[in-house]
Amino acid sequence: MRRALLLLATTLLTAGCAAPAAEVRVEELRRPEEPPSAPLKVEPTAPADMPEAVDEGDRILSFLTPRGITAAVRFRQTARSIGAPNRGALEGGACLAPKGPGFVHVSRSSCGTDEMVAIVQWALREMQREYPKTAPVVVGALSKPGGGRLRPHKSHRSGRDIDLGLYATGNQHLPHFQPLPIERIDFKKTFLLMAYLISSGRVTNIFVNHRLQPYLYEAARSMGYDRQQLDYLFEWPRGAKSRQGLIRHERGHMKHFHVRFACPDGNSGCVE
Ligand SMILES: [Zn+2]
Repeated sequence: MRRALLLLATTLLTAGCAAPAAEVRVEELRRPEEPPSAPLKVEPTAPADMPEAVDEGDRILSFLTPRGITAAVRFRQTARSIGAPNRGALEGGACLAPKGPGFVHVSRSSCGTDEMVAIVQWALREMQREYPKTAPVVVGALSKPGGGRLRPHKSHRSGRDIDLGLYATGNQHLPHFQPLPIERIDFKKTFLLMAYLISSGRVTNIFVNHRLQPYLYEAARSMGYDRQQLDYLFEWPRGAKSRQGLIRHERGHMKHFHVRFACPDGNSGCVE
């Protein structure tokens, strides 16, 4: 059985967005093949599927979620990511609203590719669905409406980078990125959000301080990920300079993690 839900209908211009933003419409088509309580599974080594083009430029990206459900996220692709994350630009970016299901957005740099904005909104909403009482995650910088240099970041220039906060234990609400003692970080929820994003097949890397990785690794292991999957996902227990694993060290990044997305289908000037 397939049921279609129109889940998120609006994306607003925020104060920092001078250019008109494309509307972002995320429509999720769920096929509940297994109950949401099914054990976690992931196929991180499967090649990423490109979204399928459908009517009027809409795209549908289908993938298996960490809960074993096939999700299909539908969005309209109008943005173009140009060049590399650390020297590129963005055309026709979609901009994230100041708040939405599962998140509050605290940066004026709100824009990115339609694909990234759609997947992030889907994943955060999925977290809220799974943990209805959870405090919203703080979303930081994406890119400026036209991309380009965004101080103090080196990247965030081409609409494919986004900073996301950590979950605190006890559903504590965090108004912005803030330092937390290790025992106050909810690593299980934080990793699950990462897993939802990665399951889309469109995330190339997540950057987070190496010191947090053993805790995220343990959270993933306790949730059923096997050794091969953990090796693929994490740089740890390899060193912070190994340049291996999808989840990698970046200096700082103790209060948030940084997610980088692949070049959208058909963006010929985009550089990974
Ligand atoms: Zn960042």
